[in-house]
Amino acid sequence: MTAPEPAPVAEPVPFRIVRGRPAVDVPAAEQAVAALLRALGKDPAAVHLADTPRRVAGAFAELLTGAPFELTTFPNDGGYDELVLAADIPVQSLCEHHLLPFTGVAHIGYLPGDRILGLSKFARVLDLFARDLQVQERLTQQVADWLQTNLAPRGVGVVIEAEHLCMSLRGVRARGARTTTSALHGLLREDARSRQEFFALSGMRGRPA
Ligand code: ZN
Repeated sequence: MTAPEPAPVAEPVPFRIVRGRPAVDVPAAEQAVAALLRALGKDPAAVHLADTPRRVAGAFAELLTGAPFELTTFPNDGGYDELVLAADIPVQSLCEHHLLPFTGVAHIGYLPGDRILGLSKFARVLDLFARDLQVQERLTQQVADWLQTNLAPRGVGVVIEAEHLCMSLRGVRARGARTTTSALHGLLREDARSRQEFFALSGMRGRPA
């Protein structure tokens, strides 16, 4: 007599996220920053600037290097089918036109399919794409596309609201101006009620989709 087999336990499926992106060449970046200082009429050998190339290169390396992480999804055992929204996730990135930061918040929502995602992981996915030279539109789309492909939800929506230092410090000097971008897939794109619910919960009431 053998004991009955225990029912199989649905294990979380971890997969490791590593983006194929060339690493920052820090020594070359240091030399380039020293050259930039010279071009700006500054002496990189001056005492108060002596450490600047190293610091700037290190800062860019940090801002442009995403940390790999394990992404774990779980079976949607409860059959949860309402909108899940992670709102006001801080986001920071570098604009590819001026190499200046843009910062703000992201709202990421999805309608679960067969799998659900740990809520903290939305911030990790966002950060992974944000640590790059970016434009806000592309960042928004990349996060939405990635979630659609890897989580296969019934719908996904990403809204980013950000202030760009290249707009607020220079050019038109539009201080406090926020740029809003959105990307939608699946039911959040196709179904008006779901879309409205997503934008309402994101604090975007009345916004046309
Ligand atoms: Zn810019």
